[in-house]
Amino acid sequence: MRLVLLGPPGSGKGTLGNMFAQSKNIPHLSTGDMLRKEMAGKTLLGEKIAPIVNAGKLIPDGLMIDVLKHRLAQKDCAGGFVLDGFPRTTAQGVALDTMLSQLRMELDAVLLFNVSKKEIVRRLSGRRVCIQCGKIYTVDYAKGVCEKCGGRLGVREDDKPEVVEKRLEVYERQTEPLIGYYREKDVILEINGEQPPEKVLKDVLAILK
Ligand SMILES: [Zn+2]
Repeated sequence: MRLVLLGPPGSGKGTLGNMFAQSKNIPHLSTGDMLRKEMAGKTLLGEKIAPIVNAGKLIPDGLMIDVLKHRLAQKDCAGGFVLDGFPRTTAQGVALDTMLSQLRMELDAVLLFNVSKKEIVRRLSGRRVCIQCGKIYTVDYAKGVCEKCGGRLGVREDDKPEVVEKRLEVYERQTEPLIGYYREKDVILEINGEQPPEKVLKDVLAILK
């Protein structure tokens, strides 16, 4: 099963990606993890990536495709994968398709997580991060201190309401055309992301049957 996850920040697709990948015993490929792994392994790709990441710049599409190709060549991807965080633009979607067809692979589906703007703002602006260890807590975590280290909880810069609005705007501008691209290819499956994670997983398993 080869899947791409699409959805705005705060849609819960990362959580679902993890749960789904575990239930199917396939890897959950997030762009951040893949980049960190290349850098930690000091691979050729990692050495190209490090200066870009350290300068706080975006990884060019071609390089990201190389990273992904490297990852997909590993044994654990033989049974499929869940791709999370890439592609985000139509150009990236096209590049991914070209690369997959070179590998004689095809996407089985693109899961689109629908969550209302109101709920996203609630989730993200209610999120707290431990100032000491960096652990992130969802809006439903009721305690004032970190359960792991006892550190104080604060709000990430990224999760402040005005920044959340901006992140959503960027998402819409970049990703709406990509959603259109996948709709034309008829691979989109829509998921109601406004439910508890266990229910979302149930829906995903059912819709992919
Ligand atoms: Zn902590």
